[in-house]
Amino acid sequence: MGNVSPRIWSDILLALRSECPELARPWFNALEPTDLQFGVMRVRTPTETQRQYLRQQCQVAFNQAAQTTLNRLVTVEFVAPPEAIMTDRPLSFEEEGDKPILNPDYTFDNFVIGPNNRLAHAASVAVGDAPGRVYNPLFLHGSVGLGKTHLLQAVCHRLVANGNGHGPRILYLTCETFTNHFVEAIERGALHQFRYRYRHVDALVIDDIQFLGARERSREEFFHTFNTLYQSQKQIILSADEAPNGINGLEDRLVSRFSWGLVVRIDPPCLETRMAILHKKATLRCAELPEDVIHFIAATVESNTRELEGALTKVLATSQQYGGLVNLDIAKKALGDHLPAARRLVGITDILEVVTQHFNVRPADLQGKRRNRSLAFPRQICMYLARELTAMSLEEIGGYFGGRDHTTVLHATRTIAEQRTQQADLHQSLLQLTEALHHRIP
Ligand code: ADP
Ligand code: MG
Repeated sequence: MGNVSPRIWSDILLALRSECPELARPWFNALEPTDLQFGVMRVRTPTETQRQYLRQQCQVAFNQAAQTTLNRLVTVEFVAPPEAIMTDRPLSFEEEGDKPILNPDYTFDNFVIGPNNRLAHAASVAVGDAPGRVYNPLFLHGSVGLGKTHLLQAVCHRLVANGNGHGPRILYLTCETFTNHFVEAIERGALHQFRYRYRHVDALVIDDIQFLGARERSREEFFHTFNTLYQSQKQIILSADEAPNGINGLEDRLVSRFSWGLVVRIDPPCLETRMAILHKKATLRCAELPEDVIHFIAATVESNTRELEGALTKVLATSQQYGGLVNLDIAKKALGDHLPAARRLVGITDILEVVTQHFNVRPADLQGKRRNRSLAFPRQICMYLARELTAMSLEEIGGYFGGRDHTTVLHATRTIAEQRTQQADLHQSLLQLTEALHHRIP
């Protein structure tokens, strides 16, 4: 532990778990502070994926926990062992922006198998263990929130683990990123590099491929990428919200190629599976829920697993107000009389937090009166997201952000909506923020 005593470190973890219970994970126990110098506490993470996750999701919380515990200004810096950096990082264009590439929670171990996803799970494991040899391509489809992204990432984790330190070249990305990158490559006249990068991988994993339907030139490019990889027996894994022949705008040659390997549908989970998932998710958040509460949540929220998680989050958050106690009464209070829709679960405070983190500004600044551009822009983003994701009125939103008038909010939302259609990077940031809010585990 270098010059950080075990006692202090455990106090820091304790502070973190009590201040931000939603962030805590059992694997935090494997973190190890190596030294504290010049106000920087270096903490070693076992894997590169974990390091990226911590940096992206937990940086502020760790800084605060360290500061509270040591009572002075400290910044936590996460470092991964060099060998992990070499081997534990699937290749992705998103790495350039240091976005989290894989969610450390999305592993096979954390995936609950039920009748609804048994085949999808088995096929994913098989592909993770014998890429390019069993099902190629593997195509998973199902409606939103049923675990497609989780399974895709679990395969990536498995491929990395099976690489035994020989870092297989895995490209994991969304269809959105593929098309954006393709367009950029054309604009910069860098098509050659683009092709080299996409066609020299051991596994190409593309999430939400349905978006390809609307992009003709990207589709053409993808067709050739597919053929090259397929012919050299490299693994291709795709997910979509529809079966290949149900995707709008996809031509026959792609539909038929997508069906060459194995096409598997994931269905919504039954009650029993939903309960098992809740158990798993609660454990992942270091929380324990009584059986009747698990049953109540699983019976109330039927639609999909993402909403189920949102409901669990809501119950855990409400229980914080009661000193961490979770019982049926509190669960009922948390979920109200009605089934909460996932969108309604996004709270204005979540938006404020996610946006301030993203832009590295303070919440008080966005809620204050100052109007300089560096604050006005993130504030407008907040207003736009609040309008999109909560049921708040223009007046309420204006009130929350420094008592501003509803016309200000309207102007902000229109400005962002318009800029969004013109600026790909803004669009991308908004997608990420929205995704973060929907996945949020407060
Ligand atoms: P999709 O990509 O299909 O929209 P995700 O993979 O994002 O869905 O899943 C939404 C959430 O539900 C994620 O947090 C994921 O971990 C969780 N989830 C879905 N299915 C399962 C499962 N069978 N076991 C555990 N967690 C699951
Ligand atoms: Mg997904």
